[in-house]
Amino acid sequence: LGRRELRPQGTVVRIGETSVGDGSLSVFAGPCAVENEQQLLACADVAAHYGSVGLRGGAFKPRTSPYSFQGLKWAGLELLAEARRHTGLPILTEVLDPRHVERVAATADGLQIGARNMQNFELLTEVGKSGLPVVLKRGFGCTVDETLAAAEYVLAQGNDQVILCERGIRTFEHATRFTLDISAVALMKQRSHLPVMVDPSHSVGIPALVEPVSMAAAAAGADALLIDVHVAPEQALCDGKQALLPDDFGSLMGKLELLAMGL
Ligand code: PEP
Repeated sequence: LGRRELRPQGTVVRIGETSVGDGSLSVFAGPCAVENEQQLLACADVAAHYGSVGLRGGAFKPRTSPYSFQGLKWAGLELLAEARRHTGLPILTEVLDPRHVERVAATADGLQIGARNMQNFELLTEVGKSGLPVVLKRGFGCTVDETLAAAEYVLAQGNDQVILCERGIRTFEHATRFTLDISAVALMKQRSHLPVMVDPSHSVGIPALVEPVSMAAAAAGADALLIDVHVAPEQALCDGKQALLPDDFGSLMGKLELLAMGL
C-alpha cells in the first residue's frame, strides 16, 4: 500500500493543523522526555518561539535499563496537553503498549512508534486502528525493506497517515551514537509515497553534529526533522547529552530557513 507508484504525488500527513509532506520542511522539537511542568513549558516555549510546527516529548520512555527514568507516563501526557494549550503546538508522543493506544490517542495529535518497537506488530496494528498520524521510527537493526513492511501494518488498517523516520542504525562506528543512514532517506522517498522524517538527535547523539546532519537530511529530501531541545540539558533525566540548547536550536532554524530560500 505504501509503494510510490500507487501515489506518485506523495502523501500529506496532518498532525493537528500541521501538514507534513507538502514540500516544506517541518520541524518537531522538544525535550526527549517530559520531566515536569516547568521544564516542559520552557522547552515548548523555545520550540514555538523558533518556529517548530509541533512539540515532541516522551511521557512513556523505552529505556535500555529498567533502573533509568521511565517517563512520567499518564501524568506526562497531561503535561503535554497543557503545553499544547500553552503554545498551540500539536503534540507528538511515543506509545509503547498496544493496551495504551486508545488512551494516548485520546490526548495526542500524533503517535510515535520508537525504534525498539518498529516490529511490534500488535502495536502497529493498534496505532493503525486509532486513525491518528503515526511517526514510525526505523529500528536500529532493521533494513529499509523491513521498515517499509512495518509501515504496511499501519496502512493495512486503513490509516495512510504514516511518516517514516530515519533515526540511525547500529554499525561498527561508535564515534556517533548511531550511524545516520542518509541514503535511506532518499531511498524511502523513492520507494514510498509516505513522508520521511529524520531524527538527527537520537542518531548522532552529539549536539554539535545536529545542525550539519539536519542540513544533509534536508538536502536528501527529508520532509521533517525531529529535534531534541532542552533548556537545561545537563539536568535532563533522559538523553540530555544530545539536546540542543535554545540558542543553538534558534541558529539551526535560521539556517534551515535560508536553505529553504535557496540561500
Ligand atoms: C525518542 O524519540 O524519544 C526515542 C526514544 O527515539 P528512538 O526510538 O529513535 O530511540
